Amino acid sequence: MAKKIAKEEAEQLAKDLLVSRKNGFWEVGDETIEKADQFGEGYKSFMNEGKTERECVNYAVRVAEQHGFVPYDSTASYKPGDKVYYNNRGKSVITAVIGENGCKDGVRIVAAHIDSPRLDLKPYPLYETNDLALFKTHYYGGIKKYQWTAMPLAMHGRLVRRDGTYVDVCVGEKPGEPQFMVTDLLPHLGNEQMAKTLSKAIEGEDLNIMLGSRPIRTEDGKGENLFKLNIMKILNEKYGIVEEDFISSEIEFVPAFEARDLGFDGSMIGAYGHDDRVCAYPALQALLDCKNPKNTVMSVWTDKEEIGSDGNTGLNSSYLEYFVTSLAEAEGLNGRDVLSRSKCLSADVGAAYDPTFSSVYEYANSCYLNNGVAMFKYVGSRGKSGTSDASAEFVGEVRKLLNDNHVLWQTGELGKVDAGGGGTVAMFIANLNVDVVDMGVPVLAMHSPYEIVSKLDIYAAYEAFKAFYEA
Ligand code: MN
Ligand code: MN
Repeated sequence: MAKKIAKEEAEQLAKDLLVSRKNGFWEVGDETIEKADQFGEGYKSFMNEGKTERECVNYAVRVAEQHGFVPYDSTASYKPGDKVYYNNRGKSVITAVIGENGCKDGVRIVAAHIDSPRLDLKPYPLYETNDLALFKTHYYGGIKKYQWTAMPLAMHGRLVRRDGTYVDVCVGEKPGEPQFMVTDLLPHLGNEQMAKTLSKAIEGEDLNIMLGSRPIRTEDGKGENLFKLNIMKILNEKYGIVEEDFISSEIEFVPAFEARDLGFDGSMIGAYGHDDRVCAYPALQALLDCKNPKNTVMSVWTDKEEIGSDGNTGLNSSYLEYFVTSLAEAEGLNGRDVLSRSKCLSADVGAAYDPTFSSVYEYANSCYLNNGVAMFKYVGSRGKSGTSDASAEFVGEVRKLLNDNHVLWQTGELGKVDAGGGGTVAMFIANLNVDVVDMGVPVLAMHSPYEIVSKLDIYAAYEAFKAFYEA
């Protein structure tokens, strides 16, 4: 029979045995908050420079070269401390530092994705109707379509001309440049629309982008498609393209907002596409700052995560496996053995607890803004489908690493058990027989055109990734 104990004794027991879950601001010193604020400044300028996967790769290559990284050469041999990057078709990039032990004990990978939900163009996007010129779009990734109307959009991407030359475009980001928009219906005429479910109120074929309203003016006022033709003429003069060139193009319309401090206290950052550039940035920054790693370390910035990781720049392809294998072979090792000994943080965002929508979160097992970088043993949906579900041993190893390095961290799940769910790149890396666990920054309003993260959490992610690289 349990005897009564003193209140103080119970308090001590609770201290010894139970998890205390305090807001991160009660756990960190002034210096950490200061560093987090500084780190946030660098992050914001990265966010404004790289809104698409191509722009992010350009950023990574530029910054890596400034830090002494050189393009990876599979025929070269490398020594500890050498820095290389592998640019996969301009849309995903691996940056790596050769470790003291090379890769004989496996490599250490932090993998984040640099593609975000957006509006892509159809192969024949340009059309006119009722004296207006518009683009037809095909949305990319999981979006709530009604959120993408009635806000400024910018056009980014690459147009490949019929002779194979290309031109990169970016319109709508600089002051004075035109912007674009998908219209929505005025409330006065919205009775029928407002009675629809949110998923039907705006449908895929409604996401048409407004481009112009002036025709090419003929002397007799007659002619076909003169509004469309006027836009094509402008694009031809500016970029040297013709309509067929759209077929060989990747044009992405993204929110034209810039990354900015959010809230009076400047504790948060609002931006388009924190998912998952908010993990990519600290992953690369930690690699640049990591000193004399024991094992070969690498940051992977991948493409295609938002559409399932298929495609040769996504992690369901073999590019990471080939890269690691190539490093292994250069050291006379077998790629399979190296991969089997490798460890990875799948760095992707989590859904931060949102008190406004509390019904879809389970309070005790959610991640929270400002409680630090979040480790997720599993994500997935419908009973852990579509996730790698890390082993207890590997979670234990990473947990120890975070605690030993005094990293501000938390854990969680992606909402209530049957509320929905989602996947990450973890399962594709796990398929290479690598130990992998999901870890990332909590985000509010994820996949909306403007998402929120906390500066303290971004910095915690940086500290976690750096500790992982230096372990
Ligand atoms: Mn993500
Ligand atoms: Mn996502």
